[in-house]
Amino acid sequence: MQLLELGWTPRFAEDCQTLFPQLLPGRVSAEFRGGYRLLSPDGDFTAKIDGKIRHAAATRRDYPAVGDWVAYSTNDGVTATIHGILPRANCVVRRAAGRDVSEQIIGANIDTMFLVNALNSDFNVRRIERYVALALESKTRPVILLNKADLCLDLAEKLHELEPVVAGIAVHVISAIRNDGLDALAPYLTAGQTIAVVGSSGVGKSTLINALLGENRQATGEIRESDNRGRHTTTYRSLVPLPAGALLLDTPGMRELHLWTNEDLGETFADIKALAQRCRFADCRHDSEPGCAIRSALGTELDTARLNNYQKLEREVAFIERKTNVRAQAEEKKRWKTIHKQARQQSKRKLKG
Ligand code: GDP
Ligand code: ZN
Repeated sequence: MQLLELGWTPRFAEDCQTLFPQLLPGRVSAEFRGGYRLLSPDGDFTAKIDGKIRHAAATRRDYPAVGDWVAYSTNDGVTATIHGILPRANCVVRRAAGRDVSEQIIGANIDTMFLVNALNSDFNVRRIERYVALALESKTRPVILLNKADLCLDLAEKLHELEPVVAGIAVHVISAIRNDGLDALAPYLTAGQTIAVVGSSGVGKSTLINALLGENRQATGEIRESDNRGRHTTTYRSLVPLPAGALLLDTPGMRELHLWTNEDLGETFADIKALAQRCRFADCRHDSEPGCAIRSALGTELDTARLNNYQKLEREVAFIERKTNVRAQAEEKKRWKTIHKQARQQSKRKLKG
């Protein structure tokens, strides 16, 4: 595939020229145990990271992820060594499963995120709001897809409910199973565009993806790769070319996203932030403080459910930040322990020597 078809932009070209002038650019299309799959104009490669990346890596973010542009070299034209990651235009991260809070990149360099929601009894404006927040905070373009239009008898009502929540964001009504309304998605699916599909279980993501894949349906199938010990590991192709030209980024976890962000929610809740500016106290918690602009706007300018959703998201972000801080502090402590230990060993050696 050509660079432009793979999503190459002038910015990547410039960064690659500056940072890795001697190396070739490739895009990570799959990740599996012990390795990566790369797509590039010079072919497809099974790739490993070099020791420098491994040693310098402090967090998961320092390793390549699906969608990343990387700089590689190859000796045999079949396997490649990754020497660096080009600065990401964006990335979608999530809280890894379990009690442990650590972030995991589930995709990088995504242009558009299809936020799929069903127009049946599952329809939930608050959930759509959360997905929009997630897309914006991940610096990708959100596009809301309202699926199962064939089941919906009160479309106008639902759209009316949604309108104030998603000002300025594209909304398309579709029926994936009937192939209805999918033509309107063509502008997002041109060559070089990278798209991801997210949404709750059962809303029709797989049906939509299959419809977009058309004849290429089998392309989402398993592929087998050899890891560094020659064992075969099963993996999924995660960057799949669609007939329309775009690339579908579909990693495990991408379809079901959880909120993971350290950034503030100002962009999605600009109205609430603006109101908060007018509270009498700068540290107003919008509880029962006198002169609270948010409280007084409730029921008129501001919907209670929207405020509740905002506060819930804010608590969630605060929780993640606290956990991350605790973890960062623990890591810092550990780091210094090692430094002290090395210093002691060195001074001992000096004394002996
Ligand atoms: P996913 O969990 O989001 O991947 O959802 P699926 O694609 O597996 O779809 C869940 C169910 O909804 C399946 O039974 C689909 O056939 C059905 N479905 C998907 N799209 C539509 C649609 O546009 N209309 C109707 N009526 N059903 C749909
Ligand atoms: Zn207030």
